Amino acid sequence: MTESAAPERRAYYFDSYTRMFTARIVERLTFDKRPAVVLDKTYFYPSSGGQPFDKGTINGSQVVDVVVRPADGAIVHVLAGEVSGEEARGEVDWARRFDHMQQHTGQHILSQAFVREANAETVSFHLGADSVTIDLAASSLSAEALERAEELANRVVMENVPVKAWFPSEDELAKIALRKTPEGLEPGALRVVAIGDFDFNACGGTHVACTGEIGTIKIIKTETFRRNVSGQLRVEFRCGRRALDDYRQKNAIVNQLAADFTCGFWEVDQAVARLRAEAQTNRRELKTARDQLLDYEAASLAASASSLDGLRVIRKAWPERDAAELRALAGKLAAQANSVALLGTAGEKAHLVLARAEGLAPDMNVILKSALAALGSGRGGGSPSLAQGGGAAANLDQVESALSQAEKELLSRL
Ligand SMILES: [Zn+2]
Repeated sequence: MTESAAPERRAYYFDSYTRMFTARIVERLTFDKRPAVVLDKTYFYPSSGGQPFDKGTINGSQVVDVVVRPADGAIVHVLAGEVSGEEARGEVDWARRFDHMQQHTGQHILSQAFVREANAETVSFHLGADSVTIDLAASSLSAEALERAEELANRVVMENVPVKAWFPSEDELAKIALRKTPEGLEPGALRVVAIGDFDFNACGGTHVACTGEIGTIKIIKTETFRRNVSGQLRVEFRCGRRALDDYRQKNAIVNQLAADFTCGFWEVDQAVARLRAEAQTNRRELKTARDQLLDYEAASLAASASSLDGLRVIRKAWPERDAAELRALAGKLAAQANSVALLGTAGEKAHLVLARAEGLAPDMNVILKSALAALGSGRGGGSPSLAQGGGAAANLDQVESALSQAEKELLSRL
């Protein structure tokens, strides 16, 4: 072990609660194009083991990152600006650090609870600004198993069990049943975190002194699928302040919904189910009514259409109409023998629908091509009996002359 990596330099190993300290600057360097310092001892936690680095200040300058230098294990404090002098006065952002301590200690407990209640080992841990997750070696867990683990974890919190972190001797370590045994560590370099006699784990992070400080441990949700890793279950949870914030936010939403539905919060799910069923019925009825209306419109258009040698051509343009509705209308018109529908809508995305009855010769794709050329732009296609297209902006006059061109083309091909 290098001197830079000596546990004594990492003062947070022995005391998670000191937030103001003085130390000696033993090295100045540039890291990621920013000034940085190494201290003879530090309470700033570097990003590692799933726990993010501590923020705060050194001699008034913001600490923007804290990293472990791989070459020698030194802790590098990256700063927003240069600092002067040999002495460093450090102040750790306590709100951020304590939040990390709550989430991280809560994670130890929850991981052990999943081992006991579901025989599911924790594969990895992630602590972010918004989410806290563990990935379990389990493809799925029942709601009951999740609740049992959550229940056990919260019991350990409420018992206010002491949390101890230390470097045991080799003999002592041999007697400790670690939840997970790390590999390739020198004897005496392994730090053990014990939560009463509930959980023993190797960890370099910062933890609360007693489990009561964690507050509530609440599982938020689980995901069975994670970046194509099968056989793993991601469990998202919140501890302490984050659990309270989450509860506040959800409580406000549920209360608002209950007020909107004028019901109790416990009835909101039923109210939503009723609303959804109602909306589904409405959609169905609306679809039937629209369909009937289109039938009437098709009949009316067909009755007023010009007829030439028994061929009925229905040509009409609208300033603004839904393309799907145009298509439905064209389909209805072309269902009548010897009928051709040439319909269009103007607007930001002008659209033409050309349809003909079965048995007529002209290919509507060819007619559409000619109409789109008259429109000046647009793309489309379809079957010989129904083709549609457009896409570019056009006004009513432009759409009408495109349809007129379509009719000319059609008549020339009969
Ligand atoms: Zn830990």
